[in-house]
Amino acid sequence: MSKGKINVSVENIFPLIKKFLYSDQEIFLRELISNATDATLKLKHMSNIGEYKEDYGEPIIEVKIDKKKSKLHIIDQGIGMTESEVKKYINEVAFSGAEEFIEKYKDSAKDSGIIGHFGLGFYSAFMVSDSVEIISKSYKKSSPAIHWSCDGSPEFNLVKSDKKNRGTEIILNISKDSKSFLEDNTIGDLLKKYNRFMPIPIKFGTKEVSKKEGEGKKEKEIKETVDNIINITEPAWTKNPKDLKEEDYKTFYKDLYPMNFEDPLFNIHLNVDYPFNLTGILYFPKITNDINLQKDKIQLFQNQVFVTDNVEGIVPEFLTLLRGVIDSPDIPLNVSRSYLQVDSAVKKISNYITRKVADKLNSLFKKDRKKFEDKWNDIKVIIEYGMLSEDKFFEKSDNFTLYPSTDNNFFTYDELMKKIKKHHTDKEGKTIILYTSNIEEQDSYIKQANKKGYTVLLLDSPIVSHLIQKLETTKEKISFARVDSDAIENLIKKDEENISKLNEKDEEKLKLDIEKVVPKEKYTIQLQAMDSEASPFIITQPEFMRRMKDMQNSGGNSMFGNMPEMYNLIVNTNNKLISDILNTKTKSKKERLIKQSLDLAKLSQNLLKGEDLTKFIKRSFDLIK
Ligand code: ADP
Repeated sequence: MSKGKINVSVENIFPLIKKFLYSDQEIFLRELISNATDATLKLKHMSNIGEYKEDYGEPIIEVKIDKKKSKLHIIDQGIGMTESEVKKYINEVAFSGAEEFIEKYKDSAKDSGIIGHFGLGFYSAFMVSDSVEIISKSYKKSSPAIHWSCDGSPEFNLVKSDKKNRGTEIILNISKDSKSFLEDNTIGDLLKKYNRFMPIPIKFGTKEVSKKEGEGKKEKEIKETVDNIINITEPAWTKNPKDLKEEDYKTFYKDLYPMNFEDPLFNIHLNVDYPFNLTGILYFPKITNDINLQKDKIQLFQNQVFVTDNVEGIVPEFLTLLRGVIDSPDIPLNVSRSYLQVDSAVKKISNYITRKVADKLNSLFKKDRKKFEDKWNDIKVIIEYGMLSEDKFFEKSDNFTLYPSTDNNFFTYDELMKKIKKHHTDKEGKTIILYTSNIEEQDSYIKQANKKGYTVLLLDSPIVSHLIQKLETTKEKISFARVDSDAIENLIKKDEENISKLNEKDEEKLKLDIEKVVPKEKYTIQLQAMDSEASPFIITQPEFMRRMKDMQNSGGNSMFGNMPEMYNLIVNTNNKLISDILNTKTKSKKERLIKQSLDLAKLSQNLLKGEDLTKFIKRSFDLIK
């Protein structure tokens, strides 16, 4: 029919694009299948509005490999193209799109954020091909089928074809250095990666299935060869939440993460069409210790086409621990990631997702508090992280954030205040919230607090020191103190004071005695008149210092990083043993008593290790001999 020259100013687009897109060559398949899908959906629309009067049928898209001839075929049964449409849409539009791409991104093309997501459409086929052919027949009955071919240079060839049925077949003559795209595995994996949830069935090869025929004794199994359809055409997120059951969400989760054996804790169905368009399902997974391994599992789609699993900048950081899918045509992807964060549409999307997550947590809490409490351990890290990083989330979090106590009660912040305010308020009017980070290790301190009737919270997630800091600055007149950060009398200072059994002179002598045995550079000795029942020696680490260290360890400033380990040694002057130590005449016995008491105090702080522990054990055996 005709030979022609495409009117573009860049003479050789082909090698340029090929080079630019080298790392992302594989996207050609996604682009061609998107085109085939669009063409089919357009026909469906025509059929629906009565423009197309013939049978729409059940169109599929077929991907076929011809290894012998080094060809890859993508065949659709969509609207097809007439000769003039090929000239217009392929020769002009597609090529000028490619040209525009080069013009625009010549210099910044190294920013991979741009390259990966720039939909080059049809032209991307040339990245992997020596030449590309289009055989197409329009749905318009009278128009003849055409056969277009081109090797990527602006010259093309256009002749008649004898194709009988409507639709388009794209044939890629795969180039030598792209031979991997002729492998079943490569193409199969790509289809699974990009096209698994596309709306038109995609056939790739055939498969054998067995089915039962006949009944009773005559029943037999027969094998049948059927099309191998690789996609789920109506994934759960495209459906109305009303039409989905709990089970459907779980099944979809398994489709998304087949290697994952655990069920998600719950899901959030996203669905908004104004002021932006977004659908999706987010899942709260069980978070285990290795947080980094679990990040970045959310998949981003645009109209059911997979785009990326890097949602950085689109979803707030704290939600990257969630799983699931987000589908939005309104997220600009042909821009760099740093730009995304300042884009106002993206900001809106990110805020919407944050709000939806907060609302869902709120409604789960309201609907079934017990169930929510049971899940708290698995979701707290995400919630605490969100409270720290997103002010909007923090504002809402009082509705559902829980503070568990060591005796397994769960309080909201208001409930906690109601319970402890009276008893936990010190003489300055500050309410002290006591907590432990480890019930086992801090048992003796918890017992002391409980004995005085105090409630102790269990706050044991890795970022809790940051969160405490934030709560202290936003809530009024409260402060947090870990149970082992001082003697309980000092943590919540009341007016009544214990009177010391020892006089000043005795106390001075006692201090000197102890200092002879206890290393000064590690322990600050602090005599205190306490309940006579309280331990004689108590080792504590001041809240402030320990918290700074914790924060440093979980990412904070480094000011306190190299601080030496320092502790307070509180000596209870009212304990009988202390009087005994003071009154012991034999020097060696006195020393032994102090050493033994210090080791016992260390033991209850989990600090007795190595040689000290060995010596302690020997000394203890000697003592009971
Ligand atoms: P885009 O899809 O972004 O418009 P492309 O370069 O991929 O850009 O395609 C250019 C045009 O060619 C499409 O808009 C469409 O009109 C036409 N086209 C491409 N592939 C097909 C197809 N399989 N069937 C019908 N028309 C097609």
